[in-house]
Amino acid sequence: KRKNYCAIPRDKHLGHDIMEFQKIDLKDTNITDIFRLEDLQQLQDAFSKANNIASTITDLEGNAITEPSSHTTVCALVRKTKKGLDKCRKSGRTLGLMSLKQEQPSYMKCQSLGFFDAAAPIVIGGIHMANWLIGQNCIGDVDEDRIVCYAEEIGADKEQMLQAFRQMTVISEEEFKQKLDFLWLLAHQIAVLSYRNLSYKKMVTLLEKSQLRLKEYKDNLEKTVKLRTRELTQALDEIKQISVRDGLTGCYNRRYINEHFPKEFSRAKRYKNPISIIMCDIDFFKKVNDTYGHQCGDYVLKEVALALQLSFRKDIDWVGRYGGEEFLIVLPFTSIRSAVIISERVKKAVQDLPLEYDKKQMSVTASFGVSGMDQWDLSEDLTWETILNSSDIYLYKAKDEGRNRIEFGPAMKK
Ligand code: GH3
Ligand code: MG
Ligand code: MG
Repeated sequence: KRKNYCAIPRDKHLGHDIMEFQKIDLKDTNITDIFRLEDLQQLQDAFSKANNIASTITDLEGNAITEPSSHTTVCALVRKTKKGLDKCRKSGRTLGLMSLKQEQPSYMKCQSLGFFDAAAPIVIGGIHMANWLIGQNCIGDVDEDRIVCYAEEIGADKEQMLQAFRQMTVISEEEFKQKLDFLWLLAHQIAVLSYRNLSYKKMVTLLEKSQLRLKEYKDNLEKTVKLRTRELTQALDEIKQISVRDGLTGCYNRRYINEHFPKEFSRAKRYKNPISIIMCDIDFFKKVNDTYGHQCGDYVLKEVALALQLSFRKDIDWVGRYGGEEFLIVLPFTSIRSAVIISERVKKAVQDLPLEYDKKQMSVTASFGVSGMDQWDLSEDLTWETILNSSDIYLYKAKDEGRNRIEFGPAMKK
């Protein structure tokens, strides 16, 4: 006659708190993946000894996982015979099957002698993994006649069996149930704690993975930010260049001239450094446009501008497009004399410029008005407009005198 037995209400015995933990799939896990066999054995041996009860842990098919602890001599004698062992095993299996799915302990009288046996399931994470069997307890309803009878039935030594039986302690059913309570609580707590451990382990792994991903993400972000910053800086530089350069010739534009020439001039004035400027205008440029078309005019403008830009000191002198085909060249730290020599060189460079448009060879010349300040007489009270006007006047003079020539002189107040 079997009895289900449960010291803990069923809805609590799986440990509801474990549901708050990271869920883990234990489908293909068995109990020895979770516990070390030596640890299980040690626990089982200690439990058996303390409770004076035989005990073993089996899988769901009834196969032993641990070595049995504290077997009684009577049962050892029974198990020595083939018939006895078969019946013992059958009892174990029946008990195991009873606990299977029920997930609660049960006890019954064994099929051999009628001793009390019980099984407590070990359920981890909702998976029934093993059964912890206890038993071989006599609760007083087995007498010496039954022992002798059974010894005869299975072919065991009657005398030895009787001797061993007489030494067995008889316990009450109540005491047996107390032992089962203890076992069940123990098995249950072990299961909950091990599930928690596994769950923590999984959480730690997940945490490590996400930390790694976070780091990768951060590294990528930093790289992207660096790249974007570089692109933005480049774009900003380009915009700056575009805003100060003339689109056709690449020379500084009128805005730049208006902003920078006055600064250049006052710097020279403050430190009493010489400064010269050259106003350069292409001769008869209208004719180029009229003869070869506006596009050819653009081409010539570009070529002349390039020639001009290549004729001066980098980073000190600079060229701006003052108007249509008119350029302003600013030469800091340069006397009028030197500026004239430079102009000669530029004049020749323009004149010698090999121009070819639409398979037609052509050439242009330019006229130059050079002016500047070699010696600063501050009482003169000159401004940047004075010097600019002067170079314009010299340029007109060069045009009047026949073009492709240079006229020069000091800046003069009107
Ligand atoms: P001069 O020797 O007296 O300077 O005669 P010029 O023909 O060069 O002077 P003028 O002022 O009569 O004509 C300048 C011409 O330059 C008129 C204008 O259409 C042309 N021009 C101005 N800017 C551009 C431009 O960007 N592209 C082209 N193709 N032509 C331009
Ligand atoms: Mg001109
Ligand atoms: Mg002009």
